Amino acid sequence: MTVSDYRLQGAIDTLKESGVRITPQRHAVLEFLVQSMSHPTADDIYKALEHKFPNMSVATVYNNLRVLKEIGLVRELTYGDSSSRFDCNTTDHYHAICESCGKIVDFHYPSLDEVESLAEQVTGFNVSHHRMEVYGTCPECRAQTAH
Ligand SMILES: [Zn+2]
Ligand SMILES: [Zn+2]
Repeated sequence: MTVSDYRLQGAIDTLKESGVRITPQRHAVLEFLVQSMSHPTADDIYKALEHKFPNMSVATVYNNLRVLKEIGLVRELTYGDSSSRFDCNTTDHYHAICESCGKIVDFHYPSLDEVESLAEQVTGFNVSHHRMEVYGTCPECRAQTAH
């Protein structure tokens, strides 16, 4: 089994444990998310699965994403525009975002927990989590502008 097979199996086990019904569409949405490391939008997922499920609507995709989000299998990334992106890597990680094509790439860095405790001290907030992104130009876009 590949790494993504293991992750898909783990995700399906979590679904079963939480008593969520595993419909073919839900399975396909989850599978697509596990296999694509690209942080797709609901629209991307819809377009990728449209041919398999001709009766599926974008609303169905959203609905499935909401269910997966509620049980903690998927994280929604909002970046201030209309299209949220979805990430099924829910372990702590940070994102590098390409300003040319919008691609989001995961990277790992020791969790910046000090930021949270400092923020709590300074602001009196009970901090629940933090998010960090770095911005720039991805290798593909850099290669395109090079010639
Ligand atoms: Zn790019
Ligand atoms: Zn990610």
